[in-house]
Amino acid sequence: MGTIIGIDLGTTNSCCAFMERGEPRVIINEEGGRTTPSVVGFAKDGERFVGEIAKRQLVVNPESTVYAIKRFMGRRYRECRADFALVGYPIVEGGSGECAVEVQGRLFSPRELSAFVLQKLKKAAEDFLGEPVTEAVITVPAYFTDSQRQATRDAGTIAGLDVLRIINEPTAAALAYVHDRRKSSTIAVYDFGGGTFDVSILHVERDVAEVKATRGDNQLGGADLDRLLFDWLSQQFQRENGVPLPSDRVVVQRLRDAAERAKLELSTATSTDVQLPFLFVDAAGPHHLQVTVTRAIFEDLIAGLVERTLAECRAALTDAKMSVDQIDEVVMVGGSSRIPMVQERVKALFGRPLNKGFNPDEVVAVGAAVQAGMLEGDVKGVTLLDVTNFSLGIEVKGGQFGRLIPKNTTLPAMARRQVSTVVDNQRSVKIHILQGESPVARENVSMGEFELNNIQPAPRGLPRIEVTFQIDANGIVDVTARDTRSGLSEQVRIDAPAGISKADLERLTAQHADLAAADAAARELKAVRATIEGQIVSLEGLQRAHQGVLHRSDLDGLDQALKRARMALLKSSDPSNLKELADYLQRVQKHVRARV
Ligand code: ADP
Ligand code: MG
Repeated sequence: MGTIIGIDLGTTNSCCAFMERGEPRVIINEEGGRTTPSVVGFAKDGERFVGEIAKRQLVVNPESTVYAIKRFMGRRYRECRADFALVGYPIVEGGSGECAVEVQGRLFSPRELSAFVLQKLKKAAEDFLGEPVTEAVITVPAYFTDSQRQATRDAGTIAGLDVLRIINEPTAAALAYVHDRRKSSTIAVYDFGGGTFDVSILHVERDVAEVKATRGDNQLGGADLDRLLFDWLSQQFQRENGVPLPSDRVVVQRLRDAAERAKLELSTATSTDVQLPFLFVDAAGPHHLQVTVTRAIFEDLIAGLVERTLAECRAALTDAKMSVDQIDEVVMVGGSSRIPMVQERVKALFGRPLNKGFNPDEVVAVGAAVQAGMLEGDVKGVTLLDVTNFSLGIEVKGGQFGRLIPKNTTLPAMARRQVSTVVDNQRSVKIHILQGESPVARENVSMGEFELNNIQPAPRGLPRIEVTFQIDANGIVDVTARDTRSGLSEQVRIDAPAGISKADLERLTAQHADLAAADAAARELKAVRATIEGQIVSLEGLQRAHQGVLHRSDLDGLDQALKRARMALLKSSDPSNLKELADYLQRVQKHVRARV
């Protein structure tokens, strides 16, 4: 068995780690980074870039640069309209009503785009470990619904990874803590990232880590702080320039970028200057932006959002039936937890110093690696008792929500429900499954509907069909139905509105492997062409410099080599041909050098 890697597939940044002789280690990517921006960029010729390089082209090419795709994972188009404004690329309605991104005339689902990020991490791990990597543990926000988890697992599959386990991010952070400390305590994990906020209360007793409660908001993160600052900056702009900021995508992206940079600086400095010369030009001439933002202004802007995270912390304590003084440690996770005001407020809420022993950018991936190590058997097991983050239920009479598995039930969890018919000889029953907390069915997230068919004809109310709902350790829901009279049982496929079929998944996986191969070939071709272009320049140099000294036959040889090289650059796109040519040119160069 190869190494199982642990992946924190973040909204903003992703990180990958593995266990080396019982200790977690973060994998360094191709660019030398310990984290990889979760950004996929498409060049004009369709070539894809992932990570830092893609992030860099965001300002110049916002329509073809996809970031924060996690916000749209496994969600339906009409459910996430509010999020469209947060990104610079166009979101459209894809097949089966899910969100899709249109780039250069092609539709990509969020799972495909996430697969590009995962594949980069997989490759980095393979380069780092020197062996193929095919298995992974991937983390998701605690608040991810069933279809968001499924989509994440699909993304892994598309990237060529067998996703052995999906674990919640705060739980992963707690695992990293448990692995490191090995002492009994009650901890709060406060994770404030780029797109989501999560808080979990866990109790660790010897080798059992039990999640007591977990809360969060998967629409609240650093990007929202950026947006507040963005709005403030555009107001300042309008005040100074007397014209509103145009909605041009490049202008908006430049300002967004500046807002984030200012925010980062304000974590260490108490004031910063935002300068965007020539932000745009109109009939009146060029317009510039120049404003000073102080930490006090920024704190004023974000206070409301920070307070929302604290309200979630209080609610989590209530869910866990605990008071603040029962919390022994607070582990801070996520880039936004670096904001001084956030730290002060969290410290004040819990009334104790924060644990600074972990890198907030890496602790989730490290925890995923610890989980991977447990699956490999290399790490002494910590029994993880995670909980459900939503109530699971079905629609019952009058559009009400019938709760079957309440929120915060320890996983894996199971519930049974008997259903029957309402009219005589009814042959089928429809069941609508939902996740959420509202007593009104339609206010919760629909997971799909299924129909039980082939019910034996009988007077109404007589058939007894037992439906079993199971939530596995990954938080993924499974439903089976059994007719207690005939004893026949069937696995029910939930037609998740935002899900995809197995056949589609297989097709995408194959397609993705082809795309990756095509990308690699394109890069190889570019590289060898560049080599040949360089060789032409040096051969021409030799020709010029030693015209008088070189023998006629050498000059002819040089001439021929140059002709072949120029012709090949014009005509050939076969990398192996071009490689042979590059070798040949190298020999010619060596030969000529030896003669002068
Ligand atoms: P995610 O879990 O969403 O991938 P991260 O934990 O990597 O996100 O956090 C990314 C967010 O943290 C971004 O919004 C980024 O601007 C913010 N961030 C990173 N460093 C800092 C900092 N020093 N001060 C304030 N915000 C920061
Ligand atoms: Mg994160």
